[in-house]
Amino acid sequence: MAWKRFRKKKDLPSGLWVKCPSCRATLFKKELIRNGNVCGQCEHHFPLTARERVDMLADGGSFQEQSPDLYPIDRLEFVDREPYAHKLARAVEKTGQNEAAIYGPCTMEGKPVVLCVMDFTFIGGSMGCVVGEKVTRAVELATEKNWPVIVVSASGGARMHEGALSLMQMAKTSCAISRHDAQGGLFISVLSNPTTGGVMASFAALGDLIVAEPGALIGFAGPRVIKETLRQQLPDGFQRSEFLLPHGFLDQIIHRKDLRSSLVDFLDHLWTYAEGEVQTEWLEPSFPPQEEDTETVEEGTDTGEGDKSEPSPEGEEAAKTP
Ligand SMILES: [Zn+2]
Repeated sequence: MAWKRFRKKKDLPSGLWVKCPSCRATLFKKELIRNGNVCGQCEHHFPLTARERVDMLADGGSFQEQSPDLYPIDRLEFVDREPYAHKLARAVEKTGQNEAAIYGPCTMEGKPVVLCVMDFTFIGGSMGCVVGEKVTRAVELATEKNWPVIVVSASGGARMHEGALSLMQMAKTSCAISRHDAQGGLFISVLSNPTTGGVMASFAALGDLIVAEPGALIGFAGPRVIKETLRQQLPDGFQRSEFLLPHGFLDQIIHRKDLRSSLVDFLDHLWTYAEGEVQTEWLEPSFPPQEEDTETVEEGTDTGEGDKSEPSPEGEEAAKTP
């Protein structure tokens, strides 16, 4: 009906449009999802949930999540603005996951690997005991199977609500990687935006290959802390992937659309599988959706001005690593 055309702008359904924090373009959310959550105008990489990342990297239906029921314990009965237990419950409700990491075996173009993926939307992807345990178990599973392990990091660092226990995860994950390495295993570390604090100071920096998505914030202390400490202006793009590559921190920067094929290339070149381990048939990944899919847009989840790709105050606060 003609009169509908004259609806006011505010009556447009929410959740359909997203503003790019980098180029300020207004993006159609469905189009953004079809583009793998990468801005079509400026190539800004929006964050992915752990599930989306798995769906993007693993062969369709091949990922078998392990230890999904591991749930953190509030050993310190920690309270800041709210009790840690409440914060955890809210994070579980918001993300539908028990923690900020998932892991399991899967195949990539038929090649078996163990994949572990962090989720920044769960308390800033911070590493508490369970995240540390999952990363460790992922690496140990890879060692046991004699398969490569790939960890995709997205984290503000160690989880302060678990105090020193979260810092111990740095040692635990590093030891597991050391044993994996001693057996001749392959570990590929993929850094997404952001990878900072205790995660970058432990397993994320220990890859045989370390690759990053474009524009990812990578470092130990955040730029704001460094700036306040040094009282100096930091160079443009400080701690971003493009800054770190020429300084030797990274082996390669890989656009999200090429990430899966590049990882498969690395497996081809760096790993020899036992006979019969590589499957000759596999299904294409299920993300991003190729077909017109009306179910992907959730009404009322407009991210609007919110820039999920930057560490949220919650994430930064959760991740103050000494
Ligand atoms: Zn953009």
